[in-house]
Amino acid sequence: MAKMNCIFCQIVAGEIPAHRIYEDDQVIAFLDIQQTTKGHTLVIPKIHSDHLLNTPKAILHRVMSVAQRVGQAQIQTLDAKGVNILSNVLKAAGQSIMHFHVHVIPRYMSSDRLKIEMLSGQSDLLLNLPILAKSLKATLDDEQ
Ligand code: 5GP
Ligand code: ZN
Repeated sequence: MAKMNCIFCQIVAGEIPAHRIYEDDQVIAFLDIQQTTKGHTLVIPKIHSDHLLNTPKAILHRVMSVAQRVGQAQIQTLDAKGVNILSNVLKAAGQSIMHFHVHVIPRYMSSDRLKIEMLSGQSDLLLNLPILAKSLKATLDDEQ
C-alpha cells in the first residue's frame, strides 16, 4: 500500500516524475536524482516497506534480482568497470528516504567521484570477537 508523503510511493504512482529504466508488476528502477556516478540507479518495490530489514523475503528477492540486471546493463551499456550495490538501513546508516531502495552505482575506476572506504576497526574490538560472535550467533540460532 502507498504511504502518504512518501516520495518513492509518489514516484511509483506517477505523481512525481522519474527517469524509469525498468518496471514490472512489483518493482521499478529509476535514475537517482543525484548522479553520484553516471547511471546511478535506485531499485525499489512498488509496495511501501520502510527498509531492507523489514521487507518480506519474496519482495527482497525480486528487488535484488532487478538490481543484478541493472548492474549487468550498466557494465554492458555504459562501459562501467564495476558496480557498488548497497542499501542504507535507517538514519544512522544514511537512509534519507524511508522506502526500501537499493542503490546500483556504476564505477569507472579513478575517474569517478565515489569513495567507499572501510577503515580498519578499533583494536579493542578485536579482543572481543569471541564474545561478539557468540551473542550474534545465539540470536541467529534462536530464529531457526
Ligand atoms: P538514501 O540516502 O535514503 O540511501 O538514498 C536516497 C536517494 O534518493 C538519494 O541518493 C537521493 O539522491 C535520491 N532521491 C531523493 N529524492 C529523489 C527524487 O525525487 N527522485 C529521484 N530520482 N531520486 C531521489
Ligand atoms: Zn513509500
